[in-house]
Amino acid sequence: MRKKIIAGNWKMNKTPAEGAALAAEIRKVIPAGCKVEVVICPPYTALAGAAEAINGSDIRLGAQNCWHLPQGAYTGEISVDMLRSMFCKYVIVGHSERRQYLRETDADINAKAKAILAGGLRPIICVGETLDERETGKTMDVIGAQVRGCLDGITGAQMKEVVIAYEPVWAIGTGKTATSAQAQEVHAFIRAQMAALYDDATAQGVRIQYGGSMKPGNAKELLSMPDIDGGLIGGAALEAKSFADIVLAGV
Ligand code: PEP
Repeated sequence: MRKKIIAGNWKMNKTPAEGAALAAEIRKVIPAGCKVEVVICPPYTALAGAAEAINGSDIRLGAQNCWHLPQGAYTGEISVDMLRSMFCKYVIVGHSERRQYLRETDADINAKAKAILAGGLRPIICVGETLDERETGKTMDVIGAQVRGCLDGITGAQMKEVVIAYEPVWAIGTGKTATSAQAQEVHAFIRAQMAALYDDATAQGVRIQYGGSMKPGNAKELLSMPDIDGGLIGGAALEAKSFADIVLAGV
């Protein structure tokens, strides 16, 4: 039985004070002992305040990116050790915005995921097709290549710590959600890929989140699909009530 996981990706939003306030509000509205694992991923500058606000609760902290090396002359980057020291447990890697604007490749994402695992944290690895790729029938080819590329060299034992986020690029921040059937089809495909790369038990254990305009109104249906184990939430994670309503839809 996979524990559902709902993660809020705050992207480049919230000052330290706003982030601490939002984390405190989220803490208030998520019931203690919630059956869903809840993760918030503020920008780096809001991590400290958010960590303090959720300290002692079941809510976990995550970051939105990292660098794959431990230290050195990498201006503007941040290491896994630094994120661990800020109490992060999860790190999102390979978000489509980073693939698009920062030209991140599957090889970059793979290196980051390995560094995250080696540092004792958990990667949330994002994959997803563009609208053009979907409309030209390439969805499964694209997703298959991303899954293989991002997981290259990651062992079956390490997969217990990995979360995959399926985020169709055309559904992110657009208000267009994949239908539950469209999402389920890709999630089942990703799980089958993992069974082929590892084994059935590993594939059955890996949590696969859906991301792309998930909101309180569509969360229940998406989260009731057999291979959808949670959500990676952008816009609706910036407000405590809508985020909590999505979490509660997964209980
Ligand atoms: C995201 O950026 O990960 C995301 C899913 O955004 P939104 O929920 O706003 O579509």
